[in-house]
Amino acid sequence: NIPVICVDGPTASGKGTLSAEVAEQLGYHLLDSGVLYRLVGLAAEQAGLSTAEPDLKDPAHARRLGELAAGLRVRFEGQKTLFEGRDVTDDLRTESAGMAASRVSSVAEVRQALLGLQHAFRQLPGLVADGRDMGTVIFPDARMKVFLTASAEQRAVRRHKQLISKGIAANIDGLLADLKARDLRDISRTHAPLKAAEDALQLDNSGMDIEQSVQQVLDWWQG
Ligand code: C5P
Repeated sequence: NIPVICVDGPTASGKGTLSAEVAEQLGYHLLDSGVLYRLVGLAAEQAGLSTAEPDLKDPAHARRLGELAAGLRVRFEGQKTLFEGRDVTDDLRTESAGMAASRVSSVAEVRQALLGLQHAFRQLPGLVADGRDMGTVIFPDARMKVFLTASAEQRAVRRHKQLISKGIAANIDGLLADLKARDLRDISRTHAPLKAAEDALQLDNSGMDIEQSVQQVLDWWQG
């Protein structure tokens, strides 16, 4: 039984950085499951398939998106994501890719299509899996589950800093509104809504820096 550490939580809670750092320190593989939903959004856009909310309610449209997700031609090379041979790493990090991901992730057919791809990341010596439903749906038998929380305001400030440091203009109020819209969709969708697994350890990292959060998770893991 290959060890898995699940790290779930809302958008911009610091899951990505925390998961990458824990994986690095343990020499484990890393699954950033959000990237897969972002890719479906991007692939839909390229295929001319709408990701607008009213269209997603049409069963035929949902089925087409599921087929698109099942046939994704993606490759991961280190930190890079190659889609149909093209490096799309930066395209996937944009706010609009995040919003498209948030919309398509409510489609059950899309979630179903991405199951196998996610399970395939479980390889020796172990995996750190970052997402919304890692502990509840994808790896329910994981050895350890962490559920991260931080206030929406705190998360908006962090996201703002992150974008500014990359030279991307951003506005805190706009980011806060996007983030709340995403939280609401994540929590209220019928399939695999965002919630802590019953056996998850809760980590409120509002007052912590990244090193402290990493240390807490490693202490739990080793303890
Ligand atoms: O984590 P990240 O912001 O990259 O995820 C993009 C979107 O994909 C999220 O807003 C969320 O709605 C969706 N997602 C999901 N299940 C996951 C990971 C991400 O529904 N396991």
